[in-house]
Amino acid sequence: MTHVITQSCCNDASCVSVCPVNCIHPTPDDAGYATAEMLYIDPDGCVDCGECVAACPVDAIVADNDLLSADRRYLEISSRFFADPAHKPYSSKPEPVRIPRVEVSDRRLRVAVVGSGPAGCFATEQLLSCQGLDVEVHVFDRLPTPWGLVRFGVAPDHQRTKLIAESFERTAGRGGVEFHLNVEVGQHIMHHELLAHHHAVIYTVGAPGDVKLNIPGEVLPGSYSATEFVAWYNGHPDFAEQSFDLSAERAIVVGNGNVALDVARVLASDLNYLASTDIADHALKALARSSIREVVVLGRRGVAQAAFTTAELMGLVACEGFEVIVDDGGEPRRESEPQGVNAVKASILAELPRRPTRSTEKQVVLRFLGSPVEILGDDKVRGLRIVRNELIDDGQIARATAEIDELECGVVFRSIGYRGLRLPELPFDDVHGTLPNERGRVVESATRTPVRGVYTAGWIKRGPSGVIGTNKKCAQETVEMLLDDYSTGRLAAPTQSVGDLRTLIARRQPQTLDYQGWQAIDRQERSAAQGQLRPRIKFTSVADMFTAASAVAAPG
Ligand code: NAP
Repeated sequence: MTHVITQSCCNDASCVSVCPVNCIHPTPDDAGYATAEMLYIDPDGCVDCGECVAACPVDAIVADNDLLSADRRYLEISSRFFADPAHKPYSSKPEPVRIPRVEVSDRRLRVAVVGSGPAGCFATEQLLSCQGLDVEVHVFDRLPTPWGLVRFGVAPDHQRTKLIAESFERTAGRGGVEFHLNVEVGQHIMHHELLAHHHAVIYTVGAPGDVKLNIPGEVLPGSYSATEFVAWYNGHPDFAEQSFDLSAERAIVVGNGNVALDVARVLASDLNYLASTDIADHALKALARSSIREVVVLGRRGVAQAAFTTAELMGLVACEGFEVIVDDGGEPRRESEPQGVNAVKASILAELPRRPTRSTEKQVVLRFLGSPVEILGDDKVRGLRIVRNELIDDGQIARATAEIDELECGVVFRSIGYRGLRLPELPFDDVHGTLPNERGRVVESATRTPVRGVYTAGWIKRGPSGVIGTNKKCAQETVEMLLDDYSTGRLAAPTQSVGDLRTLIARRQPQTLDYQGWQAIDRQERSAAQGQLRPRIKFTSVADMFTAASAVAAPG
């Protein structure tokens, strides 16, 4: 028997360090880790001890005997991964995750972490785990709720992925961490003020902006970004009042990443299925009135270049309530056949029907080799003009042909990536939408000189790539740089005390919440869902969250 990693793999590699036979790869020390879709257990190496099952924070690991039939393909995926010649070196025991030992003990290290999403939580955990270090971490978030994209980005039907929040709760419960929720850096407290109260500041604010298509018609009513739709159905307070016109029969999602699949799945899913998730109430009601029967996911390149992961494709295909159809745009010329795990993705796509086989159901159409050139309509979106592409440079580039097609639709979602936003008082890399940095040390754009005391991790450090656990390795690297600077005297001691910090925050933002405030919100959201299949009913306004936090006393 072997164990198998399945769809909700978060890549945080908790399983790697407990495996006694080093059969889980890529490890954070392996070259392919940063770009891996997920982690894999070598079926030939697994000794069936089950240590990884207990360590997995998102319940993604099961014994092969217990695999659901929809998940049996993960066995093939694992075998193919290890059969790939590029993965042959995955055989030696990796170095254990390095937790640096810091000898500086004259003063307590005080660090501000801005953003309480995965990168912020992993950075906090890493700081607190450092042996010999007297450290306190102040975590800031502009919202009253922590965990960032785990709450507002991960799709509501991916509850197992959200289990990672339990490990963030354990971090938050450790001594030495203080949360300042509902406090916006740049508004309630400025960057230079944070630096005056801390040795160092780590920015882990993610990439909340979206990328534009820059085509005519993009501003028409009915043309939206996936970023705002995702935030809306997940109950983000900034998007709760937004409305989406779902009155037409066809929606088009432009882009071929995992976010595009999330949007398509939510649009096409059966209402009873969504009603068992923590989707925002307003979204559930709007989707109940939706007339959408067909969602076209439009990829500019071919089947072999799709950015969505094999696991997410399998999840989409396994959904009930709609059929997944492939329109590959005619036989694309393949200079090279997909290898390894990508071969499984290609074979799943090859097995999918080319036209509807179940006439009564909704459909998700995965259409390839098409780029939008104009969103059509006068007062609102009526259709999309699409140019057919051909692939050149071994599939690297999609080149437009003269072939144009028009597809009627009532709504277009662009899902072509996220983008980091400029932060006050800090340098910014406009090309990549990131904080310019060297291994997490923020640097001046022109000179690449480190900005003293300023660090970054997560999407604002490396751009919007990877899954939740990818941020763990990313945050570890950043903390290593910070501690190196601390132990070599390159950080300035704070000029203001923690008391000064609390006074300043209370004066600027009287509605600050601490971690107990969030726990009160959490309890009320869960209890509101009691007797229903839903895990929680989310508050979607900051005012309601604040009332909930103030009204309920923390447990004694
Ligand atoms: P992504 O994976 O980078 O995909 C972006 C897609 O947009 C690509 O297919 C890209 O095509 C396409 N694109 C870019 N510019 C375009 C243009 N001008 N016209 C047409 N298409 C264009 O981004 P994402 O889907 O936003 O996801 C962001 C990250 O979050 C990814 O790492 C993703 O895996 C992760 N995520 C993971 C999960 C999960 O694990 N369940 C869920 C959601 C998100 P090209 O490939 O041709 O450039």
